Amino acid sequence: MFLELTGEQRLIQDTAREFAKAELDPIAATLDQEGDPPAFLANLRKLAELGFMGLNVKDEYGGAEAGVVAFSVAITEIARACASTAVTLSVNNMVCEVIQAAGSEAQKKAYIPKICSGEFSAGAFALTETGAGSDPSGVATQAVLDGDQWVLNGSKIFITSAPYAGVFVVWAVTDRSVPKGKGISCFLVEGGTPGLVIGKEEHKTGQHASATNELLFEDCRIPKDALMGKLNDGFRIAVGELAGGRIGIGSLGLGVGLAAIDYATQYSTERAQFGQKISNFQAIQWMIADTYTELEAARLLLMNAAFKKEQGKPFAKEASMAKMYATEAANRACYKAVQMLGGYGYTVDFPVERYARDVRITAIYEGTNEIQRTIISREILRSIV
Ligand SMILES: Cc1cc2nc3c(=O)[nH]c(=O)nc-3n(C[C@H](O)[C@H](O)[C@H](O)COP(=O)(O)OP(=O)(O)OC[C@H]3O[C@@H](n4cnc5c(N)ncnc54)[C@H](O)[C@@H]3O)c2cc1C
Repeated sequence: MFLELTGEQRLIQDTAREFAKAELDPIAATLDQEGDPPAFLANLRKLAELGFMGLNVKDEYGGAEAGVVAFSVAITEIARACASTAVTLSVNNMVCEVIQAAGSEAQKKAYIPKICSGEFSAGAFALTETGAGSDPSGVATQAVLDGDQWVLNGSKIFITSAPYAGVFVVWAVTDRSVPKGKGISCFLVEGGTPGLVIGKEEHKTGQHASATNELLFEDCRIPKDALMGKLNDGFRIAVGELAGGRIGIGSLGLGVGLAAIDYATQYSTERAQFGQKISNFQAIQWMIADTYTELEAARLLLMNAAFKKEQGKPFAKEASMAKMYATEAANRACYKAVQMLGGYGYTVDFPVERYARDVRITAIYEGTNEIQRTIISREILRSIV
């Protein structure tokens, strides 16, 4: 076994780390507390220029074609500084990948290069609805063919990047006569299409710079050829793509967890109580030891899932394991980091409270960790019965 990054992967990791330090770290707290959408979007453009918007996208569509391992380590480095930027990157990559996997040649050429180059600040992945969260087969948004156009009606909720997305991948019911999930199709809807309304923005616990909005489709007309993949094959497309997205979210969680424990460990060498550095206390040392061990285990699980995906091998179980473990380890890391800073950790004067808020959602989106456990156990049980 060879567990080292290649030269190219290390270069990408270093570039992401340097960018995060120079451009994201200095404004992350401001983005969280006050918001600065122009600065946030400007950084997305810079990341696109550096090739980070399509790390796992083919060169012919404007991507870096650097693979899944490189994508994972880059997301982790970006998330160490700004989780909002990291989730935008992760979703953009997922949108590019789903178009690459299921789109026609014309669709691939029309949209993927625009996301990779930064011409579009973002793409959006519009699956979730009020009645379709953990169970995406509950999608109720409808698409009805009217001549040479599809007419979309319905709504979506919690859509990342909606206000600045240039293209939306949208799931809608195209056949109501078949069982749930069998009659869903996938469409590409351009930002600004009449009838596509960006609804209310959620006021979230964390990841404040990344917008999360409701979407409304009010007689939204799109061309007949905006259908992506085969008619009524949308559920399969969604499930396949979500598995890859989980590597992105696990990597994001790992980055936030590392940022938190790095900060708290440094702090423990500076803060003195009872006449000595708190890092001298075994209670603090054990928190450091446990947390770095768990995050290292998370990293190895992520690398395993990323490597399998990159090799074209089945990776759904591994991606669920990595997402579940990494995001829970990262949540524990952030909890302990706050604990290690004591009362100061609970104030906005120190970044660990932000990390604790930013990391919470990683155990929920891209499939809750209960759903990950369902996927993992189903795969294991299937292999023995
Ligand atoms: C900040 C943010 C960004 C998001 N971005 C996007 C996006 O870009 N695109 C998109 O489509 N969606 C997005 N989502 C939606 C996200 O993926 C869903 O919130 C998530 O999948 C959970 O769905 P839900 O919120 O409806 O929870 P529910 O499905 O209602 O779950 C509630 C609880 O019940 C549990 N539960 C449900 N079913 C089962 C089961 N079978 N077994 C065990 N437990 C179960 C869940 O684990 C959870 O604990 C985002 C959400 C947030 C908050």
